[in-house]
Amino acid sequence: MRASQTLLAIGVFVVCAAVQGLAVAMGLMQAVDLAWLSAYTLSGSAVFYALVRTGANLRLGSDPSLTMPQSLFAISSVSWSYAVTGPLRGAFVAVMLLVILFGIFSLRPAQARLLSVAGFGGLAAAMLWCTLGPTPRYPPRLELLHGLLAAIVLGATLVLVVRLGRMRARLSAQKAELTGALALNRELATRDMLTGLLNRRAMSELLAQEQPRQRRAGGPMALALLDIDHFKRINDRHGHLVGDAVLQHFAELARAELRGGDALARWGGEEFLLLLPGTPLAAAEGVLRRLRERIASADFSAIVPGLTVSFSGGVSVCSAEEVCERAIERADQALYRAKNAGRNCIELAPG
Ligand code: GH3
Ligand code: MG
Ligand code: MG
Repeated sequence: MRASQTLLAIGVFVVCAAVQGLAVAMGLMQAVDLAWLSAYTLSGSAVFYALVRTGANLRLGSDPSLTMPQSLFAISSVSWSYAVTGPLRGAFVAVMLLVILFGIFSLRPAQARLLSVAGFGGLAAAMLWCTLGPTPRYPPRLELLHGLLAAIVLGATLVLVVRLGRMRARLSAQKAELTGALALNRELATRDMLTGLLNRRAMSELLAQEQPRQRRAGGPMALALLDIDHFKRINDRHGHLVGDAVLQHFAELARAELRGGDALARWGGEEFLLLLPGTPLAAAEGVLRRLRERIASADFSAIVPGLTVSFSGGVSVCSAEEVCERAIERADQALYRAKNAGRNCIELAPG
């Protein structure tokens, strides 16, 4: 993009030089003037092109597209053109405008202002040189009119470029805002607000992704349903807020016990679904027993002094032939058995 922008500028210079060549052929311009001017312009452009092409521009400061140096160089070249192009010189007011438009995608308002002033200054200097220089070429009245025209055209261009720059700044601020909102939205759509665990929707999606992967790998995938024991009692005795705090602390403790590849979701009110990829039933049982001990011996007294919490769990393994929903159903039946067996225990559901 940067290199092609520089090439485009070189193209404009070459075409201008060709038109000036015609002016020389028509006797409107001196050949020697065109020769010096072209040597200056093309060698300068070649240097910029080489800088951008080789990536040397990246080491040269904050603006890798070198917009300001390239524009200032172009301003000097166009001003010189104005001074030596004879009756055709007025056209270079329009070329000067093009120089400022070149920066339309990257200039900050202050830079656009500086370039407009420099562009006008360059043209004004050329006009003064044409009338008051060592060999006055044109009447001052005529150059005054050219100067007025240049001021109007460059001034109006500046207004447009600045407006566009502001619009660009607004758009990029909006884009940043939207990106943030999108990330938040994704978070809200996949996380349970209270516990910060995956929500049911996110877990369902994860299962849908994970099952084909497990099937390909040919490994087992364990699923466990965990349900806090007598949770209603906690709510009834201490209030809903305490119940919420217990859920949060339970989630923290459980998450700390699990490995990176495991996923824990809040499946319902005080019910959680644990996914253990690549884990056979016996190993999953071990994980659940460890977790049960961890929770049963955990300290909930920061929430309510003397409070203990336990959960019951049902574990199953999702085989390659069945859908996850079926394995969850079996885990649920095992959970039911664990509740009937007196709670605070783990039951297995063999396939
Ligand atoms: P069991 O040992 O048989 O599982 O008994 P339990 O009391 O845990 O089960 P039950 O299904 O009777 O009660 C679950 C309670 O969980 C009822 C419901 O009000 C409460 N609950 C569900 N979601 C939330 C929540 O987000 N916050 C709070 N504080 N309570 C919740
Ligand atoms: Mg319960
Ligand atoms: Mg329940």
